[in-house]
Amino acid sequence: MRVTLLGTGDTTGTPTVGCACTTCTVARERGVSRSRFSVHVANERTDESLLIDFSPDFRSQFLDNDVSLPDAGLVTHVHFDHLDGLGNVYRLVDGLPVHAPSETDPATDESVAETIRAKYDYLEDRIGVHSRDPFEPFETCGLEARFVPVDHPPMRCYGVVIEDPETGAKLSLTGDTSYDVPERSRAALADPDLLLADAIVPASLCDRHPIGGRHEGPDGVPRTFGSKHMTREGALALADELDADRTRLVHLAHFYPADEAFAEPLAVDGETYEL
Ligand SMILES: [Zn+2]
Ligand SMILES: [Zn+2]
Ligand SMILES: [Zn+2]
Repeated sequence: MRVTLLGTGDTTGTPTVGCACTTCTVARERGVSRSRFSVHVANERTDESLLIDFSPDFRSQFLDNDVSLPDAGLVTHVHFDHLDGLGNVYRLVDGLPVHAPSETDPATDESVAETIRAKYDYLEDRIGVHSRDPFEPFETCGLEARFVPVDHPPMRCYGVVIEDPETGAKLSLTGDTSYDVPERSRAALADPDLLLADAIVPASLCDRHPIGGRHEGPDGVPRTFGSKHMTREGALALADELDADRTRLVHLAHFYPADEAFAEPLAVDGETYEL
């Protein structure tokens, strides 16, 4: 499978509109971008492709990258930066199965699948929303996919595991999550060829969050920023624990200091990986 990182930024992206911080300035100078989150997975065997999350930047992402329109989609949770691009498929595709988790979220009283059905009812004849139980593998685009619960309070959110049954290649995404990923989900995410891990800011910025950092490692460094996202240090600790062959940090904020913002293994838009 061929994985293209279409969007590697957090909810405002980098550069952030109207922001003149050094990181946004350097990004503009270098012509690099971290748009809102989305990952394209092409199965070259079947000539099909899968989109993980629908970024509000869908249009520019598909113009800027040499990728085909998706044959199916997956949605990890209903935050704006992961879902609001779905309206872009209007008049672009004839039929698009969208797979989404089936569990009812007490915060919304709906499952992710139900929220999508309600919000995009005008796409009823273009998309078919398929409810998927966490941990239950399903087939899409010739690949095997699973949603695994993660920790993104107060909202339910899911990581994703994609495996190629022919080659054994494995892609794991943490989704938006704190370091407090449940044990069963860690087991499902383990041993990937490529891990995409939420690393919104470095741990050094935790004192800027109203509730600070949490889930300190043995070195006392917080692995969670606030309650919703991993720090860079948390994402790297998780990658280590999962024994990932390769790790790219994603969902990155412009708050990274400029001298750290473009260092390895922080991803930028447009990176591609062959698994
Ligand atoms: Zn900025
Ligand atoms: Zn989120
Ligand atoms: Zn997000």
